[in-house]
Amino acid sequence: MKNFLRIMRFGRPYRRYAVMNGVFNLLATVFHLASMLLFIPFLRLLLGQTKAVHEKPVLSWNKDALEQGFNWALTRLIELHGQIGALGIICGTVVAMFLLKNLFRYMAVRSICTFRNRIIRDVRSKIFDKMLELPLRYHNDERKGNLLSLITNDMQVLEYSVMYSIEMVFREPIAVIMFLGTMVTLSPELTLWSLLLLPISGLIISRISKSLKRRSTRVQEKSADLLGRVEETLTGMRVVKAFNGEDAMRRRFEQENDQLMRSSISMLNRQDVASPLSETLGTAVMAAIAFLGGTLVLGPDASLSGDSFLGFIIIFSQLLTPIKGFSQGYSGIVRGSSSAQRVFDLLETPNTVTEKPNARSVTAFTTNIEFKNVGFAYDDKPVLSNINLTVPKGKSVALVGTSGGGKTTLAGLLPRFFDVTEGSVTIDGNDLRDLRIKDLRALMGTVTQDSLLFNDSVASNIAFGRTGIGEAEIQRAAEIANAHEFISRMPNGYQTTIGDAGNRLSGGQKQRIAIARAVLGDPAILILDEATSALDTESEKLVQDALFKLMKDRTSLVIAHRLSTIQHCDEIIVLDRGQIIERGTHAQLYAAEGQYRKLCDLQAFA
Ligand code: ADP
Ligand code: MG
Repeated sequence: MKNFLRIMRFGRPYRRYAVMNGVFNLLATVFHLASMLLFIPFLRLLLGQTKAVHEKPVLSWNKDALEQGFNWALTRLIELHGQIGALGIICGTVVAMFLLKNLFRYMAVRSICTFRNRIIRDVRSKIFDKMLELPLRYHNDERKGNLLSLITNDMQVLEYSVMYSIEMVFREPIAVIMFLGTMVTLSPELTLWSLLLLPISGLIISRISKSLKRRSTRVQEKSADLLGRVEETLTGMRVVKAFNGEDAMRRRFEQENDQLMRSSISMLNRQDVASPLSETLGTAVMAAIAFLGGTLVLGPDASLSGDSFLGFIIIFSQLLTPIKGFSQGYSGIVRGSSSAQRVFDLLETPNTVTEKPNARSVTAFTTNIEFKNVGFAYDDKPVLSNINLTVPKGKSVALVGTSGGGKTTLAGLLPRFFDVTEGSVTIDGNDLRDLRIKDLRALMGTVTQDSLLFNDSVASNIAFGRTGIGEAEIQRAAEIANAHEFISRMPNGYQTTIGDAGNRLSGGQKQRIAIARAVLGDPAILILDEATSALDTESEKLVQDALFKLMKDRTSLVIAHRLSTIQHCDEIIVLDRGQIIERGTHAQLYAAEGQYRKLCDLQAFA
């Protein structure tokens, strides 16, 4: 219920739709009730029990006065149109009232539909914003499946259960109250009996909805697993096929698909039992009321007339529908509550990389970057320790070492993908944590191993994240990146969409587009993380050449697998298990015959 209220908070800006829904529903209920009450004079007429009333009675809300009013109107009708005519008019009125009821009902549904879809859109946007906001270290492959499932499955459950239920919870009570009021007017005694009998059936239904929530959580989990598997398979399709892995993937998928089916069936069975059960219970209650009412009609003091009793039964039978709707709505809320919980858990995940309110703006890089006694740990797994490093402006520093040594992590500290857990990183003497994050990142250009391009035009990919960039600027960047030539040969040049069939780009070409993207901002600081590692020798040359042009006059932090590419760097740092074990120029390190020399020798044979 708590989650339900929190979802409702998203509805505040759209509350007029909720109010409209309430008003229309109220009108619909009034007409529904009125049309049912018309059955009383209808029966009276049919059974020949109409008591003629020729004087217009005083109107007031009690049983006698209302009956008098009814009878008077009925008498007038019969006088004017004859018995058959009156019958026809009553039937016609019933139809008209139902028409109005359903018209208002439709308008109520329309407004609630707008209400809930707007809420869902806002929640979805919030989730996406949060995904973008959360620091890089939050995102890993395992969470990818969960996030995907959150924004698809959980949102759907939210929409169809919680949001669908909103209306039930707010609409049905109106109907219940009005129906009960009418019932009391007709026969207080019978109403009392009905009120005693109804909660018993309600209790049984509510027990069922309790176990629904647990099952629903399971369904969502299974469904996240399945999505994760599909995502993984699609991403790794090349490997799957290359290793004849289709059967293995299929087996795993089928296993998970099967589990999802089982938990869905289990949940739905539980959900579906509510309806037949409540119908049976409802009929039992109805029979009991019919019996009790019958004794009142047939009893010695005949405290209830037969036609009023029938009217009562008709309204009572309709009373069960909103009560059932209410309990279904409630179970929907319970069911959706586990999805809502997951959504709110995500929205409440704290962002660990935050900007101070008084963060300073930076626009230029003038002297140096310094790592002072830097230590870093993923959760409690230490990855870097005791890093002391200065990168003066205009110089290039290379990071080498075994994989898993912490090179990427060290480079990631600079744009604050993560924050140091010990020591500090400063830029021109300012702690990174005191600066505006956007400004800081704008100082840097990054090229990584897998050149990530988005499914958009080449030009948009180069200008990614920036607005108001002209063709000429994009082209200049592409030229520096040795990319202009092959881009111009593409069918639509810079407007060609990446990923269009027939425009398959090679790894080297993608990488050169990624380099153009890094060049475009004319960043003062370059971070190259294995930028050429995934390339064949020939494209490596082209890319390497582009990188050299890029590094000229810039400050750069270069991580390279191939040592030939970093020989000219001003300082080479050898990282091993998070510690700096050697540092110096290529010549110094080579002569020192340490770890670096070993790495060089290994590559010389390769
Ligand atoms: P390198 O780039 O030198 O190969 P990394 O900086 O990528 O090394 O990784 C250093 C260590 O940190 C590795 O042991 C790796 O398993 C661990 N690591 C990297 N990323 C994460 C992460 N997001 N969460 C937990 N551990 C991580
Ligand atoms: Mg790495």
